[in-house]
Amino acid sequence: MSRLIVVSNRVADPTLPQSGGLAVAVGEALSDGNGIWFGWNGEIREDAEGSGVNLERRGGVTLATLPLSQKEYDTYYLGYSNRALWPVFHYRLDLAEFDVAALEGYRSVNRRFAKSVAAMIDNDDVVWIHDYHLIPLAAELRKLGVENRIGFFLHIPFPPPEIIAAVPDHAWLFDTLHAYDLVGFQTDQDLSNFKRYVEQSSADAGPVTHPFRNGTRMMDARTFPIGIDVDSFIEMANTPKANDRIKRLTRGAVRNHVIGVERLDYSKGLPDRFRSFKRFLENFPDQRKKTVLMQIAPPTREELVAYAEIRTELEQLSGAINGEFGDFDWTPVRYIHRSVPRETLAALFRGSKVGLVTPLRDGMNLVAKEYVAAQEPDDPGVLILSRFAGAAAEMEEALIVNPYDADEVAKALHNAVTMELDERLDRHGKLLARVRHSDIVSWRRAFMDHLRGHGQADDAA
Ligand code: UDP
Repeated sequence: MSRLIVVSNRVADPTLPQSGGLAVAVGEALSDGNGIWFGWNGEIREDAEGSGVNLERRGGVTLATLPLSQKEYDTYYLGYSNRALWPVFHYRLDLAEFDVAALEGYRSVNRRFAKSVAAMIDNDDVVWIHDYHLIPLAAELRKLGVENRIGFFLHIPFPPPEIIAAVPDHAWLFDTLHAYDLVGFQTDQDLSNFKRYVEQSSADAGPVTHPFRNGTRMMDARTFPIGIDVDSFIEMANTPKANDRIKRLTRGAVRNHVIGVERLDYSKGLPDRFRSFKRFLENFPDQRKKTVLMQIAPPTREELVAYAEIRTELEQLSGAINGEFGDFDWTPVRYIHRSVPRETLAALFRGSKVGLVTPLRDGMNLVAKEYVAAQEPDDPGVLILSRFAGAAAEMEEALIVNPYDADEVAKALHNAVTMELDERLDRHGKLLARVRHSDIVSWRRAFMDHLRGHGQADDAA
């Protein structure tokens, strides 16, 4: 029987609570089959380069993992994936650092992963590779003679070719995408940036066709907006424990709970969000004492300077706002620098009148979808969403804002906390229908159908 082999940088135990959109989505995608999930186990070991693959069965999924050496971690993971590709793909050339040793580490870990994956593949298996850490993996697998169908999904944005032009060796990197049968993006804008890149880089070789032809292989590229498991999230938001948490959250004098949840990453626009909240308190003094911003921002990639800097900036901003506006009976900003289980988040979303999701650039943003799913259908809260989140392409009934414009976000906050029930019901009903329409199951099915070659020819992107 044809198996699905998923490969991603990190493998997470599907039986434990996850943080990170990719972990949540992949765990759910594999849970109903006899699949294998291959990747790094999160360990750094000196003998890593000689060590074999560890196999374990967890919650219906076979986890196949290996450790990284310190040098691989420093070059492949921190150096190239997170100091070079992550900022570039989020349009932040100012934060990108390029160095040859990091690129070499990235290539060599992709080669090592390819050898281990190739040894596990049977003839009719289908391989699905995830995210920017592993772009060249299919090309390495092809070199080892793997002819199976291989797909790639990019969870983060794909920037315009004018930005990619600044990446050393970008031609090598993006040429390796042609080893895939299918490449998936979150939004039409990402896909169109990719097509422009291919067109511009092959300008001398004549017109580009779609699907793209590379020798005898055809590579298809399409949009597959990722979603969530809507019913299980609704269930999580409505347990007796969730009811109890909501009671504890809402028992004070504060009427308007505004919630933001994201890893403390510069792409998420947290300092801009805090400045917008401050502007809201300045511009709408009647809302002071009635409103609290709860920001949950767990640490991530703390070894990198850009992340340490943003942590300091955020701590200063929250302290300054609380110092300037707070009172003995009211703290305007509650800032939590820890990871919170998803079931607690579900309750906090349901108990919050406003979901404030204002990244400067984001592949999709699952928190926006989770916030909508968690709302009381007969008294829903309001989602404020950045136009630069992938989710904004679908969720047009949110209050769509420019996260760089503090006055606009402040006005949207005021609009959200004063919005009449009729309008909230109307917006929420439409948003929930959209979240249901492109949920996690339809995302996985659409991608797998196209990868297995059963996709509709007439819905070509
Ligand atoms: N999340 C969580 N605990 C936290 C913070 C986030 O469980 O403390 C979850 C959140 O509910 C969502 C995911 O992590 O499912 C974040 O996905 P998103 O697409 O919003 O952002 P990413 O972290 O993938 O950039």
